Amino acid sequence: MTSEVLEQRPFRRAVVSTSAIAENVRSLRARFAGQTVIAVVKANAYGHGAVASARAALAGGATWLGVADLNEAIELRSAGIDSSLLCWVHGPNTAFEYGIAKNIDIGVSSLAQLEAVAAAVARLRLGNEAGPVTAMIQIKCDSGLSRNGVPSDQITSVFSRARELERAGVLRVRGLFSHLSNASEADDREAIAAFAGIVKMATDAGLEPDLIHIAASAAALSYSAEDLVVLPVNAVRLGLVIYGLSPLEGVTSADLGLRPAMCLEGTVLNVKRVPAGAGVSYDYTYRTAGETTLALVGLGYADGIPRAASNSAQISVRGRTYRIAGRVAMDQFVLDVGDDTVDVGDTAVIFGDPNDGYPSVESFAEACGTINYEIVTRVGPRAYREYTTE
Ligand SMILES: *Cc1c(COP(=O)(O)O)cnc(C)c1O
Repeated sequence: MTSEVLEQRPFRRAVVSTSAIAENVRSLRARFAGQTVIAVVKANAYGHGAVASARAALAGGATWLGVADLNEAIELRSAGIDSSLLCWVHGPNTAFEYGIAKNIDIGVSSLAQLEAVAAAVARLRLGNEAGPVTAMIQIKCDSGLSRNGVPSDQITSVFSRARELERAGVLRVRGLFSHLSNASEADDREAIAAFAGIVKMATDAGLEPDLIHIAASAAALSYSAEDLVVLPVNAVRLGLVIYGLSPLEGVTSADLGLRPAMCLEGTVLNVKRVPAGAGVSYDYTYRTAGETTLALVGLGYADGIPRAASNSAQISVRGRTYRIAGRVAMDQFVLDVGDDTVDVGDTAVIFGDPNDGYPSVESFAEACGTINYEIVTRVGPRAYREYTTE
């Protein structure tokens, strides 16, 4: 039985504003006018809920969606989302025919993946009397990140084999893409120049990609069209920013004209008065300085509150913030609220929109020694996703 059946309102809530996502995409579309916006909704839309977030991004004017793997892409298709869709992280035995049949672009990062796509097309054709099937692929090129993507010493063979398969009608190379390190402007420029060389090699090989993209949120905000003049880029892959969060250190959501879409809320489940010197939570890493009131909040590390938030992160209750007292446990943590009045049923906000007076994801992340990306992405499945259009 789900918690929404058990209770009027679940006591762990990730309240997600789909309007905020749509508005963020709308403003980013205006900012990147002339470029195709690929809204990245991988990892359950960075914890915000894949299907609802994808719909919101499309409502805001995104024309493409991006996810990591094929399962994520198929989840969107199964929900009836039929927009253009790209996925780029694959297992060694991924059966690409399920994606090809659903019109999902496959990001290809090796010769082996290219051959696997060709084999999947052959299997589809065997079982399909309706006519020939053509896979849409986008080749991911490693221009310096040394992560995913075709390495430079294999680029020529991948391009020439792709062109051969294209001529045979097996597939079409719809796009070329790469990814940046954000290590420094100089490093990014070097990678952009390397990718420009790779794009030239692709056209020399006879490929005619419609989409060329390298920038994710941080680079898209950092580099103007003039900066990228060596590249014929015409698309940006935007993840974090569509959820209203900033990828740039020292730059807030508000600075970027964005609105954080998620507010993570717990509920006060127990309140007790304790004497001075009371040990609080596992290992007694916190002891009360004087007689005080403790409030128990029903969210823990299983819900994405890192254990590193222990004795560190500030939580908002009734408009005041309190540092977490003692260790974060799997399902709960404690606040020392002093002599303030707090009642069972009160909402404890972990993070939300600072414009509403809540701690930002960024300040919460900093208290935990991590980044906003990791915090929202790890909000656990027990936190009920409640969607609002506020
Ligand atoms: C996750 C991801 C993105 C989106 O990154 P943001 O920084 O969230 O915009 C873009 N491209 C690739 C290849 C990714 O893996």
